[in-house]
Amino acid sequence: MSAYDDRLAAFVGRELVARRPAADPVNVPMIRHWVEAMGDTNPRYLGADPVAPASMMQAWTMRGFGSPATAGAFDELVALLAEGGYTSVVATDSDLELEREVVPGDRLTVEEVVESISPEKVTGLGAGRFVTTLKTYRDATRGVVATQRWRTLRFKPAATAEPRPRPAINLDNQFWFEAAREHRLVVQRCLSCKTLRHPSGPCCPECQSFDWDTVEASGRGTLYSFVVAHHPRHPAFDYPLLIAVVELEEGTRLITNLTGVTSDDLRIGMPLGVEWLDADPELTLPVFRPTDLQER
Ligand code: ZN
Repeated sequence: MSAYDDRLAAFVGRELVARRPAADPVNVPMIRHWVEAMGDTNPRYLGADPVAPASMMQAWTMRGFGSPATAGAFDELVALLAEGGYTSVVATDSDLELEREVVPGDRLTVEEVVESISPEKVTGLGAGRFVTTLKTYRDATRGVVATQRWRTLRFKPAATAEPRPRPAINLDNQFWFEAAREHRLVVQRCLSCKTLRHPSGPCCPECQSFDWDTVEASGRGTLYSFVVAHHPRHPAFDYPLLIAVVELEEGTRLITNLTGVTSDDLRIGMPLGVEWLDADPELTLPVFRPTDLQER
């Protein structure tokens, strides 16, 4: 166990919230508000000799809205968990056990202790620790009315790095993406009539020949058209996203992203040069940067 684990373990059994009395005794008006809000028409709650709904347990002793929180062990534990990187929290379950019915006139108190803190577990939300606390509700004689086990997952939010969407790679365009991985911008050329074409395809649209090779592009081009995408947002991209049609020196056009420029500085026909975006180990894509902005 690390020193950090020891510090966490020291919290197990500790009182997080000292015994706190409910502001009011259990009473019919609050029961009435509750069952009306919940739409619960069980006659046991508002008839002769009423009982309070079990689900109200927490409500009786809940700190009033606006009443100051008391700093204490709970804040210390939250700070210690945050120190370990466990900054996010999600409630995972609440297990309420009743010892007896709660009835109008009961004066309740609640106290809360830490029951357990799990070793770090890997969850879908990120690595985290399950913190289980036990609330004990008592009446005026200190008799236990109910217990509530409350489990939360305190977790390190998982990195949200999302890969770029995959292009659909097939036998007709594979060569282009393979060249891109080597930081080479290529254009498909018909072997028969020498026409360049992009996007690539199996057959020459000019002479219908299936024979082709490639030529290496200079990487210079001009801005033919562009759009600025704001929505919808995909987590793999930075916004506003500049999407351009670039006309290469060789004459073919390709759809790409622009970098090193804001939309305000874009103008149709401006000269551009290729750069390479190694998006992830499997995917490299050309992007284009204005080549005349530096001169201003
Ligand atoms: Zn051809």
